[in-house]
Amino acid sequence: MKRIGIIGAGQLGQMLGFAGQRLDIEFVFLDPSPDPPAAVVGPVLKLPFDSDEGLQQLASEADVVTYEFENVSLSAIETIAANTAVFPPPDALRFAQDRLQEKQLFESLQIPVAPYRAIDSEEDLRNAARDIGLPLVLKTRRLGYDGKGQAVVGDEADLLMALKALGGSELIAEQWVPFDREVSAIGVRNVSGEVAAYPLIENQHRDGILNISKAPVAAHGLTALARRHLEQMLSRLDYVGVLTIEFFVVDDVLLANEFAPRVHNSGHWTIEGARTSQFENHLRAILDLPLGDTSPLGHAGMLNLIGSMPPKNLALGSDTVFLHDYGKKPRPGRKLGHLTVVASDPSDRDKAIARLSEILAA
Ligand code: AMP
Repeated sequence: MKRIGIIGAGQLGQMLGFAGQRLDIEFVFLDPSPDPPAAVVGPVLKLPFDSDEGLQQLASEADVVTYEFENVSLSAIETIAANTAVFPPPDALRFAQDRLQEKQLFESLQIPVAPYRAIDSEEDLRNAARDIGLPLVLKTRRLGYDGKGQAVVGDEADLLMALKALGGSELIAEQWVPFDREVSAIGVRNVSGEVAAYPLIENQHRDGILNISKAPVAAHGLTALARRHLEQMLSRLDYVGVLTIEFFVVDDVLLANEFAPRVHNSGHWTIEGARTSQFENHLRAILDLPLGDTSPLGHAGMLNLIGSMPPKNLALGSDTVFLHDYGKKPRPGRKLGHLTVVASDPSDRDKAIARLSEILAA
């Protein structure tokens, strides 16, 4: 029986663990938090993510190590990689941790991005505002997530305030994109180089956090384009595991916003809505098993449960609505679970998602 070590024991670790039960895989996690969601699927080493002791123990107990969040320390991953297989590869993590290097990587592969500038001073920002125009989005290069560490600046008078609020340097300014919609593409590559991709997913955010995902998106041209971009990234990074790219759609163009070297919230629908989930395929990829079929099983919608869970006695209304409770303590802005709907046509799916959103808002 194979044993996988995972840095982080949050809900992604938990869902990887559930997927692993079908494949007869054991897990061990590294996470200092008191009651992490993944504790239900394997033992947790309660040590800091970057502690030498914790990392060594994790690596010594596992055949392969992976991670569930991209802000894990790069040097920690490189240290483990010297003696134990670590996937996705450290190189992918290096690009994903720095928005500037990430944009440069996209550009080097001819994957379009919104115009941007590196910002380390007020002068840089004034030049960027002149070159790429206003509004612009100012973002920290590192450690941003769920819309944190960024500010939209619409007026020249607000440039300095935004610069100061985000620390003054190590930033990037991007042109604000008046996108038609946001989509994500999830692909997977195993150690032997086999590649598979899920159908394109449409995402709606609220307060910078993913709220709703729907798949498959009805857009054949974009699906093929996204697949090409995924293949370029997977091959360039000699990638192993699941990789997600988030795009803005403007007319018929996909502008890459960022990528995540991991299973992704916008792919949670694959648990019930695809033949093989993103979680199972990540495990298959890193153990070099043949990849599972990524075909959709209908028209899926996923609704994040943020801040509070629905009442226990809530009637979800049908047996095609699936509730996932990560077992986390409620806190404003915290992802506590999600609902997935799988319908036989897009309009039924959309109606079900709208109805569930209304129930949750009441
Ligand atoms: P990010 O952390 O880069 O994924 O940004 C979070 C969300 O902010 C995105 O999903 C978009 O909804 C919005 N956003 C980020 N960058 C831009 C941009 N350049 N133009 C318009 N909206 C943006």
